[in-house]
Amino acid sequence: MAMAKENPFANALEQLKIAAEHLKLDPGVHEVLKRPKRIMEVSIPVRMDDGRTDVFVGYRVQYNDARGPYKGGIRYHPGVTLDEVKALSAWMTWKCAVADLPFGGAKGGIVCDPKAMSPSELERMTRRYTTAISEAIGPDKDIPAPDVYTNAQVMAWILDTYSQLKGYMVPGVVTGKPISLGGSLGRDSATGRGAAFCTREAARVAKLPLKGATFAVQGYGNAGSNYATILEGMGARMVAASDSSGGVFCKKGLDARKLLRHKEKTGSVTGFPSSEEVSSEELLETECDILAPAALENTITREMAKDVKARMVVECANGPTTPGADEVLDSNGVMVVPDILANSGGVIVSYLEWVQNLDRLWWTVEEVNSKLERKIVGAFHGVHAQAAKSGVSMRTGALMVGVGKVAEAIKTLGIWP
Ligand code: GLU
Repeated sequence: MAMAKENPFANALEQLKIAAEHLKLDPGVHEVLKRPKRIMEVSIPVRMDDGRTDVFVGYRVQYNDARGPYKGGIRYHPGVTLDEVKALSAWMTWKCAVADLPFGGAKGGIVCDPKAMSPSELERMTRRYTTAISEAIGPDKDIPAPDVYTNAQVMAWILDTYSQLKGYMVPGVVTGKPISLGGSLGRDSATGRGAAFCTREAARVAKLPLKGATFAVQGYGNAGSNYATILEGMGARMVAASDSSGGVFCKKGLDARKLLRHKEKTGSVTGFPSSEEVSSEELLETECDILAPAALENTITREMAKDVKARMVVECANGPTTPGADEVLDSNGVMVVPDILANSGGVIVSYLEWVQNLDRLWWTVEEVNSKLERKIVGAFHGVHAQAAKSGVSMRTGALMVGVGKVAEAIKTLGIWP
């Protein structure tokens, strides 16, 4: 029987507790960090194409803004819950601090099945949600971005709705926009590219030659497919990949770009020529050097962590490994490059996009990619140094850096009144 899904916010609080212990955090600051500063739950009536009215539930959770405006994506998924959005908003807070971005953390989500909705239904739902949260967002307040099953088009609708309400165009209200509306070159591939840079650095530290190294990707979406393409360019070979419909395996290697084209054509990675079918569970147990969970939370649980054969886990997704699984992986000597570091390339280029919008700048893709590389490689080595100094895992090291910086900002600001 399948185990009950762990509560992601309980897991985020468990991680916070571990960081707080190592940092000897002031108990008052720890209390502040256990709660989001603001939770919005909105009801979103949408006229469906067949004339019916459906009502969706949407959230925006603003976790902490001590270091700058709130920042974080919006997710459209049937499994969205308030506790999931709370967890994701806490992780955004630590992530922006790890990457040293002048942002706090937030996250949004709508409980819906976007694959079963038409583009016009998605547009009406997005615009009504934006209207409901419009007072709470803005380039100096809270800047949304894409997440699971949202994309540049969804950001364009948010931008247009917000700007119509204001009476003038406000490109800096969202990131991950289409290029024609002030989006940044390189944003689309940024999460995967950042994770590939982290993998390169981790491989150096672990003395694992990337040339000829094998990897498996769970979740062949934006982050997973870009990660695969870029890591392949660094000489590694993808032996397995999966999505919500199933997985494929090929010992000789799966061509990352061809696999993406196959998925775009057929809707799934399954049925890719000259590959064997594997289940999602089998994919996680693939014999390979690097395992990249790139889908949702709770993928690697305590129960299955012992079956992970990879030497390294690079978390392209948010929260894929539970705290229980962390213990098992750690004691088995598996190096985990944690989410708040590994997938921070997305929000790093979101930051670069926001800066370009505010300063009316226009950088080339080479400029963007090299700024991303400098920022994320710096973050990687900052986390690695913290982990080495405190004798802890990369996860705990990253949490210590992220939580430590937010805690310092809170203390320095003080409490008013
Ligand atoms: N949704 C992405 C994340 O989880 C990107 C957030 C952003 O760019 O603001 O990091």
